[in-house]
Amino acid sequence: RRLALAEERHLPAETLDEHRIVLRANVATPAEARAALTTNAEGVGLLRTELPFLNHPAWPTRDQHAATLVPVLRALTGQVVTARTLDFADDKLPPFLARLQSGRIGRGLPLMLAQPNAFADQFRCLLSAGADTDLRIMIPMVASIDELRACRRLLQAAADEAGVPTPPLGIMVELPEAVAAADELAREASFFSIGSNDLTCQILGLDRRDPTATPAMAAHPAVLDAIARVVTAAHRHNRQVSVCGDAAAHPLVTPLLIGVGCDSLSVGPAALDEVRARIRRLRHDTCASLAAVALTRDTPEEVWRLVEQCCRPSL
Ligand code: PEP
Ligand code: MG
Repeated sequence: RRLALAEERHLPAETLDEHRIVLRANVATPAEARAALTTNAEGVGLLRTELPFLNHPAWPTRDQHAATLVPVLRALTGQVVTARTLDFADDKLPPFLARLQSGRIGRGLPLMLAQPNAFADQFRCLLSAGADTDLRIMIPMVASIDELRACRRLLQAAADEAGVPTPPLGIMVELPEAVAAADELAREASFFSIGSNDLTCQILGLDRRDPTATPAMAAHPAVLDAIARVVTAAHRHNRQVSVCGDAAAHPLVTPLLIGVGCDSLSVGPAALDEVRARIRRLRHDTCASLAAVALTRDTPEEVWRLVEQCCRPSL
């Protein structure tokens, strides 16, 4: 079956009614970057940069950033690379931050903005290591327009210092605050990428480590509704919306994400062939009607049943 799917690698990720979905890969290592290119991903939709530092004793230095970024970005020369800045969240907290873990400061962006020099060092390294890629920068855990503006100032300063143009700056939408501020954020962010792993947990009140917090739970009508509203806000401002959480690759969720209007999906290299083949067997108009009905349901189980009835041959 894998072989059969691999035969479709040279074909576009396009539905039966010719609706094109941009299909990118989630990577963190040079090996994953090479695997993504082998499966013909249209670049990288999520480069996770924090993973090499999860057991680190201190903020990474510029040399340490370079040591991890240069090999992976070299493997992606000429490609779109959506590089996410360090995302030290509650479930990914290195020892030097663990003791700070209390309330909001313990997670994501406030932590980085409290350390502007450490943050600026990562921007400098990304700009230099990614110079031969089509680089976009993505900020995780954004909750407000002020945070986005603070990030833009740091990025602009790093770009000016290096004498290079400022790359597009987008955000991950993975907090309810960002959903609520989607219209305002869409005005100033270059693109959105929905972090369905965190967003699902945030909306449903689940811990990331909770075994019921599965990718399929993104089909919960409350989560779908949030995603649909984010897409509407983004499109109003001509911004593209990607989904880079694991739900993008889940057979019961891909049709719903396409149905609410997501422009792009980013999945692990191992799932790429399968997701492309799935998209090629779906109709966009059917997915849109399916999503509209799903939004009127009350539970994820009802939505899963709907998807199964509607799209069974394509799953
Ligand atoms: C997400 O939250 O969906 C996501 C892609 O980021 P991570 O899994 O790294 O938190
Ligand atoms: Mg996340």
